[in-house]
Amino acid sequence: MRLLIVALIAAMATLSPQAMAEENKQLLLIAGTPSHGPGDHEFNAGVQLLAQCLKSVPNLEVTIQLNGWPKDEAIFDGKDGILMYMDGGANHPAVQEDRLAFLGGLMKKGVGFMCAHYGVDVPADNGGSEFKQWIGGYYEAGYSCNPMWSPEYKEFPDHPVANGVKPFQIKDEWYMHMRFRDDISGVTPLLVGTPSDDVRDGPYVHPKGPYEHIQADKGKPETMMWAVEREDGGRGVGFTGGHIHKNWGHDDFRKIVLNALVWITGMDVPENGVESTVTAEDLAKNLDPKN
Ligand SMILES: [Zn+2]
Repeated sequence: MRLLIVALIAAMATLSPQAMAEENKQLLLIAGTPSHGPGDHEFNAGVQLLAQCLKSVPNLEVTIQLNGWPKDEAIFDGKDGILMYMDGGANHPAVQEDRLAFLGGLMKKGVGFMCAHYGVDVPADNGGSEFKQWIGGYYEAGYSCNPMWSPEYKEFPDHPVANGVKPFQIKDEWYMHMRFRDDISGVTPLLVGTPSDDVRDGPYVHPKGPYEHIQADKGKPETMMWAVEREDGGRGVGFTGGHIHKNWGHDDFRKIVLNALVWITGMDVPENGVESTVTAEDLAKNLDPKN
């Protein structure tokens, strides 16, 4: 009897609102399977590096899932935010089987969602409308394009994800011309740069293009990272860089992604952003085995 009472008191203490408020936030980072040569699309190494950089963030617990969709979906239980850094298109793990419905259930609970690089690419008729709702937009084949280029990010909006991020310029396969929600409603552009005419003229990585509608926008800016706050309370982010692994060594490129990962869990982002250090040695760790 006494044991039972002790157990009950312990249970009540766990459930008190104060205890709930102090609970750590849970972030799940999912890496896709290897697909490219060394140094590119290093999703497994990438999420491990990001997890290492997030260790300094108080009250945040990070779980990593390597090599694709988890075999046991219980890993999603209790997560406040999810990153998908993986190959996409028709093979996007999130659009297979009944996973869009599964993810939709999580989104309704207000779970944060971020997709990076090829992970923002889903078929228009299988995931497109969901991604517009969940993260504000997606890469639509034939509408969006994927040149290798070096946008200059000169200024940032007053948004927590941009905390402490200084202007930077870096070459990556920055997808652009995303298919956003109609009238881009509710979408806050975070990384905006203007491609040169040469970039718009192609070639893009694949398909090579050029597309007339991309060329017709010469002189206009493009959005390569953005954020939404959904009506269900969840937060969403899309980030189109992340092709080249060594780019994680750039402090501002890394910081804006780390900030976003903290932000999607519902946490406040530190005033100066998430501080971290990455060495050349760190960048050489956990790379996918050569094919
Ligand atoms: Zn790529």
